[in-house]
This record gives sequence, C-alpha cells and structure tokens, in this order.
Amino acid sequence: PPAIQIRDLVKRYAGVKGPNGESEGKLALKGVSFDVPQGGIFGLLGPNGAGKSTLINVLAGLVNKTSGSAIIWGFDIDEQRRNAKRAIGIVPQEIVFDPFFTPFEVLENQAGFYGIAKSMRRSEKLLQAVHLADKRDAYARTLSGGMKRRLLIAKAMVHSPPILVLDEPTAGVDVELRRLLWELVQELNDDGVTVVLTTHYLEEAEQLCDRVAIINYGELIANKPTREMVDMA
Ligand code: ADP
Ligand code: ADP
Repeated sequence: PPAIQIRDLVKRYAGVKGPNGESEGKLALKGVSFDVPQGGIFGLLGPNGAGKSTLINVLAGLVNKTSGSAIIWGFDIDEQRRNAKRAIGIVPQEIVFDPFFTPFEVLENQAGFYGIAKSMRRSEKLLQAVHLADKRDAYARTLSGGMKRRLLIAKAMVHSPPILVLDEPTAGVDVELRRLLWELVQELNDDGVTVVLTTHYLEEAEQLCDRVAIINYGELIANKPTREMVDMA
C-alpha cells in the first residue's frame, strides 16, 4: 500500500463575510488526488500560493479539509486521526524554539509530549543523526540557522514516524546549507524513512526527489518519476 493516499481533496478557506452574509472563501485545493509510494523521496513542486502548505497542514491535522479523503500509513485522517498524525513527522517552515532550551532539552520535551518513556528515548542518537551531538547542551539561541533547521528535523523524528514531511526545507538558505540539508534528507531516506517535501525550487526536486508532483492553483498538473519530468522540460 502507498505511504499516503490522497483522494479528491478540497480545501476552501473561510472567506470574509460580505454585507449580505455571503462568503466566497479561497479555494486552495480543488480536488487533488495522488499516492505517495513507500520508501522514496516525494516532491510536491509548485509556485508560491499553489496550495502546498495547505496540503501539508491538512495531513498534519492543522487545517480541516472541506471534502475528500487522506489515508496516512493506513490510517484515515478523519476516523483514525491520532494514529494518522503519529505516522508523520512534520518539519515546519518557520523555526520556533525557546531560545534558552538546548537541543537535548528540545528533543526530551518533545519525547515527553508524546509520552515516550525515558528508557525508550533516543535524543542522543537523533542529535548524532543530524550532526548536532557536539551542540547537545548549547542554548538554541546560539545555534546557526542551519543547526536550527537540523534540530527541527530531529524534533520531527522523535516519535520515530515512518514518514517525514518537510515544508520548504531549504527556502531562503544558502547553497552550502542547502546541500547539507539534502544530504541529511537522503541519509534519513536511506535509513528507511519515506520523505515528502514541498519546494518551489525545480533544482531541489530534480536533485533530491525520485518522484515529483506539480501543483498549481490548487490543482495537480503532473505526477511522475523525476527522470520523466526532466525529459519533459
Ligand atoms: P478555516 O476556518 O477555513 O479552517 P483558518 O482557520 O485556517 O480557516 O483561517 C482563518 C482565517 O485566517 C481565514 O479565513 C483568513 O481570513 C485568515 N488567514 C490566515 N492565514 C492566511 C493566509 N495565509 N492568507 C490569507 N488569509 C489567511
Ligand atoms: P503554498 O504553500 O503553495 O505557497 P498555500 O497553501 O500557503 O500555498 O496557499 C494556497 C492559497 O490559499 C493561497 O492563495 C493562500 O493565499 C490561501 N490561503 C492559505 N492559507 C489561508 C488561510 N488560512 N485563509 C485563507 N486563505 C489562505
């Protein structure tokens, strides 16, 4: 079975009420359907405003869909929401840490949030995986932007989800850090994690993803193995 199955997904944001009570609302997803196969790196490529974040937020349970369905790792996001949410780790676009927490504490707090017993935690291992072991006890505010992004990835992996979802992981970062983050995503994928990422960089999709879906104005306009996509362009 696919890692994620999305069918006829529609999202209309609540609109601003007009003088007669009418409310048009923004149609951000216009009936999107696709499967994310297990084990790969799947790219959702599209320009700003295409609906990528909306899609991710629906999967994450942060935005309520208007209609359609999504099944994550066999769990329906409506009927088995808790399990569906636990099957994914989300790496958000914005970096949000308490500046006076250390990377180790960030991961331990997250483990606590998930109710993971102390003996079952793997904060040290995760710090190693994202190459932050030497920053274990540094205040988050002293970390570079790249270190913070890597910490966000570790935080998303605390509950050992089979699927990692990254929203624009390299937006606004320099070339060097971009390559580092690509390597990290590749390493996690090599360890068996199915990866889904959104991007508006064609190069990122080409370099990193084995399959790419293109979304534009809330509609899926292509969904192909990356090599076929490149042939097309
Ligand atoms: P819904 O109630 O449909 O789930 P949200 O709770 O996500 O919608 O958003 C509530 C309101 O916040 C929207 O109707 C909109 O006015 C405003 N809003 C929030 N983020 C944005 C954005 N990125 N673009 C436009 N409007 C936004
Ligand atoms: P992307 O991630 O591809 O840049 P988004 O999913 O953020 O696209 O946005 C898709 C469309 O939905 C845009 O037109 C955006 O302005 C609108 N939108 C996003 N969030 C909200 C919201 N909370 N309320 C109303 N409109 C929104």
